[in-house]
Amino acid sequence: MEILGKVHSIESFGSADGPGVRFLIFLHGCPLRCQFCHNPDTWGSQKFTEETADALLKKAVRYKDYWGTNGGITVSGGEPLYQIDFLLDLLKKAKAQGINTCIDTSGGCFTHEGEWFAKFEELMQYTDLLLLDIKEINNERHKVITGKENTNILEMARYLSDIKKPVWIRHVLVPERSDYDEDLKALHDFIETLDNVQRVEVLPYHTLGVYKWKELGIPYKLEGIDPPTPKRVANAKALLHTDEYH
Ligand code: SF4
Repeated sequence: MEILGKVHSIESFGSADGPGVRFLIFLHGCPLRCQFCHNPDTWGSQKFTEETADALLKKAVRYKDYWGTNGGITVSGGEPLYQIDFLLDLLKKAKAQGINTCIDTSGGCFTHEGEWFAKFEELMQYTDLLLLDIKEINNERHKVITGKENTNILEMARYLSDIKKPVWIRHVLVPERSDYDEDLKALHDFIETLDNVQRVEVLPYHTLGVYKWKELGIPYKLEGIDPPTPKRVANAKALLHTDEYH
């Protein structure tokens, strides 16, 4: 029986989530509860469609002519690793069609334990690139922002470095939550210990998804916090040495 994926939405043309032009697939569900999440409707609601990998890939390849030499598909969310069986099926089939594959992940599901890890190891055979969010290097602040520890996320970064799987590290910059010079320096020091980082990106916090929190009736904990100033964004980029990773 074919595995069904719970799909939140798709976008035909993405240019910010991986190299080149990409077909974006947003999967439902996430173990984190980020205060700045712009897709909180991927958490507990029943707003998703069920699709097979074949059906999704059929939609994706309609746009193949636009992908050029380095485009392809990016699976995001929510948290794509939350549905690892479906993700494995999807990327295995994508690779069989020669499609460039990218996973946009928070790493929140990662564990070295048992069956899940065996599936993740196999999944890496079909994954060209991971966009890995490190939302805070300071574990206490990470817990405040996401509701979970970062220990397993940093372990995932280390594992991907060990197997030399290319990653882009992304840091969402939120004033009063993840914009501290000492943490940005510590994050840079951590990244410097990895062997597989192709790019480091600062993603300035924005408020475009706030309306969804209101619609869902979930209290928004960043009320009154504005996006970071251009000066703070430039500061974060400098402390993370983003220009050295392009
Ligand atoms: S990891 Fe992504 S989808 Fe999950 S809560 Fe955080 S921002 Fe939202």
